Amino acid sequence: MGVNLFGLSAQEIAEVIAPYGLKAFRGKQIAKGMYQRFLADFQDMTDLSKADRALLSEHFSIDTVTVKAEQHSKDGKTSKYLLAFVGGDCVETVLMRQPYGNSICISTQVGCAMGCLFCASTLNGLVRNLTVGEILAQVVFMQQQLAVAQQKVDTIVVMGSGEPLHNYDHLVQFLKLCHEDYVFHLGYRHITVSTAGIVPKIYALAKEQLPVTLSISLHAPTDELRSRLMPVNRRFSLADLLTAGDAYAMETGRRVTYEYILIAGVNDGEEQARLLAKLMKGKLANVNLIPVNPVVERGLARPKAEQMERFAKVLEERHITVTVRREMGGDIQAACGQLRHQILAGKDVK
Ligand code: SAH
Repeated sequence: MGVNLFGLSAQEIAEVIAPYGLKAFRGKQIAKGMYQRFLADFQDMTDLSKADRALLSEHFSIDTVTVKAEQHSKDGKTSKYLLAFVGGDCVETVLMRQPYGNSICISTQVGCAMGCLFCASTLNGLVRNLTVGEILAQVVFMQQQLAVAQQKVDTIVVMGSGEPLHNYDHLVQFLKLCHEDYVFHLGYRHITVSTAGIVPKIYALAKEQLPVTLSISLHAPTDELRSRLMPVNRRFSLADLLTAGDAYAMETGRRVTYEYILIAGVNDGEEQARLLAKLMKGKLANVNLIPVNPVVERGLARPKAEQMERFAKVLEERHITVTVRREMGGDIQAACGQLRHQILAGKDVK
């Protein structure tokens, strides 16, 4: 097993192959082979000489992913994959065929340390951060799936398992790679990073000059309730988080999305909607309401449709931009660590 090249930039590849006498421009060629032509074997890089291919095979490897399980929704719009890395750790990656294009949801950590009450990804704690290559491999895998139908990934949401801002350096390297012409040439505007609210890292990300959309998982309008649902709130208060969100919007000119999952009898009351509207007033922001995906282990249920409508109406009346997330993949446990958790728990997956 040689040194893995998957996840490196063209320049980084050029640097590691230089001692073997390969020219610098080969870096980009190899990167294109891996990221755009989905080649996982140097022997298939026919634009390289036989001698170069043999040399690369001897000293380097291309570590990608293998499919451990997959589920497809009945309407054919959502596909969820449990992808395994070299070494056996696995994460979930989801493809959602939206009216506006193909959106994929990728993971940044195996497991998660955040301990949010409603989330399945965190049930077994954090295992480890993903490498840049492991984050990127999820996208390349999806590109390869879509290429069969002459399609491609149009938007990426970094909303799978893990807290992206806890794997900050790898996240930023990954975002920069997505933008490169020899990778996906994807505009930053087509990428959304979701965070539970790691305040100092929100300021750091704002300064990176990568205008990705920031999505903040709010889920509660008071510190008391938010601390109960999301332990991270005990470290970074709502006020500090909202100030960081404002700073992100100011610095990048990008509208911040506040995610608010609705949980029956917990955070879905009209008074809570009024408090949320107050917090959002005057912000360059929009609120995304999401009926909670019930996690049996946590005993949390979604509100009735009327209740969700009442909640949305309170916000709309106060001129807050609000969308109710269309549910996708409800029949395939598309939410947040549920597939991986089932597999880990030894349950049968339909
Ligand atoms: N750690 C990051 C990204 C991963 S979670 C974050 O917290 O944002 C991605 C989104 O899924 C978050 O908004 C999270 O709160 C939400 N989520 C987690 N469990 C859920 C569930 N059971 N139903 C609906 N949304 C859930």
